[in-house]
Amino acid sequence: MAEKPSFSDILVQGRNILKQAGIEDWELDAWYLLGHITAMGRAEYFLRELEMVPENIVDEYYKLINIRASHVPLQHITGSQEFMGLNFLVSSDVLVPRQDTETLVEYLLPYVKNKHVLDICTGSGCIAISIMKLGGAALCRASDYSKKALSIAKENAVLNSVDIEFVYSNMFENITGSYDIIVSNPPYIRTEVIGTLMPEVREHEPLMALDGGEDGLGFYKIIGSEARSYLRQDGIIAVETGYDQGRQVMDIFKECGYKNVCVQKDLSGNDRVVAAIMP
Ligand code: GLN
Repeated sequence: MAEKPSFSDILVQGRNILKQAGIEDWELDAWYLLGHITAMGRAEYFLRELEMVPENIVDEYYKLINIRASHVPLQHITGSQEFMGLNFLVSSDVLVPRQDTETLVEYLLPYVKNKHVLDICTGSGCIAISIMKLGGAALCRASDYSKKALSIAKENAVLNSVDIEFVYSNMFENITGSYDIIVSNPPYIRTEVIGTLMPEVREHEPLMALDGGEDGLGFYKIIGSEARSYLRQDGIIAVETGYDQGRQVMDIFKECGYKNVCVQKDLSGNDRVVAAIMP
């Protein structure tokens, strides 16, 4: 390569390094990292792609590319992830907000206006914060059993200018009050499956947020039975599930005595949300 590369040169090189390293979204990620360090949007990049890149940016770009090539999640490098059109800070202490989880938020949004909402296992706070910000809930409490996660979630509430009451709690242990809606994206991956996940997830995301125990269903059993003591009559319980857990979680909720138990599919057509009504 010429000794003074252009933006286009380093982008091509960045893509190649990521592709060689077996990074699934190599093209996109090479671009996101360039956008991240230059603060250039797509349009500005196309205007400037043949310009020479300042040397410090070349070095910094390859540094980030090499970190990504070692399977550190993109969002741990950029420090943020968009969810429901809002920006969230992320770190290795919280699950990176997923598009799948937008299915859960979108399902609940029509019901949350002026309601009292409880989010169990809030992690980055993405569910509670987007429900508050986009749905206009009257009150939202959000809990997690990780103090580090709660401190990220608090930062995210400030970043998105919403008032959420955060509670340090092992599931319902420190929860008080009654709610119109209880929502959760609990850990649901079966323990034996964790080792087969992508290295980005397996090695860099918090195990505590992923591991759902031997059958992956332990947290749904707790939520199903405990939520009954906190849900108002005709209140809604809604949880995210693994793509193959819809039927089993519906059965758990039916056994707990909820009515109108139903499953919602995500954008890929997989079961993703199970919801029910408090009788
Ligand atoms: N959907 C996440 C994953 O695929 C898992 C989320 C969870 O366990 N709540 O890794």
